[in-house]
Amino acid sequence: MKIIMLGAPGAGKGTQAKKIADKWQIPHISTGDIFRANIKNGTELGNKAKEYMDKGLLVPDELVVDLVVDRVKQEDCVNGYVLDGFPRTIPQAEALDAALNAIGEKVDYAINVEVPDENIINRMSGRRACVACGATYHIVHIPTKVEGVCDRCNAQLILRDDDKPETVKKRLDVYHEQTQPLIDYYTEKGVLVEVDGTVEMEEVFGAIVKILGE
Ligand code: AMP
Repeated sequence: MKIIMLGAPGAGKGTQAKKIADKWQIPHISTGDIFRANIKNGTELGNKAKEYMDKGLLVPDELVVDLVVDRVKQEDCVNGYVLDGFPRTIPQAEALDAALNAIGEKVDYAINVEVPDENIINRMSGRRACVACGATYHIVHIPTKVEGVCDRCNAQLILRDDDKPETVKKRLDVYHEQTQPLIDYYTEKGVLVEVDGTVEMEEVFGAIVKILGE
């Protein structure tokens, strides 16, 4: 099963993508996580990506397309995968489709997690990320056992630069301009499904399970 998660930044698509990956035992591929790992390791890709990410802008297509196309060709992807944060532009979607077409495959579902902008801004300011392992939490919705400390690895939690309110507003503008057109794109392909992302996390997941089948 090849799944794409769509939705504004902070809509909860990452959380749902992880749950899908766990239930169906397929890899969760997050381009944001890949970039953050590269930034942490000080790679050339990381340094280039950071310039854009810190401003709330998208990393240029040429830095992300090959990376994802190569990743989905790896052996652990034979039974499918869930893409989180990719594609984010029409050219990225076209590049993915072209790569899949070439091997006689296609995207099965594009799941749009719908959340209005006002909710997003509230949510993102409460988001916290681990400086060491990248795990994400929320001070209200997904609290850690000890405040400010990662449950997984005990490292410190921070508000990511790209989750700061002024950057979030910019990211939402970019989302509406460049990523929202993908909703029409995947509707035309007949694979778009929508879930209400404003309800509790487990309820959102329940709606997704209903769509994908047990
Ligand atoms: P995310 O964790 O998915 O919200 O991604 C964080 C940031 O990484 C985004 O705001 C972009 O700057 C960058 N990014 C992640 N995925 C992509 C993509 N597919 N295309 C361009 N930029 C991306």
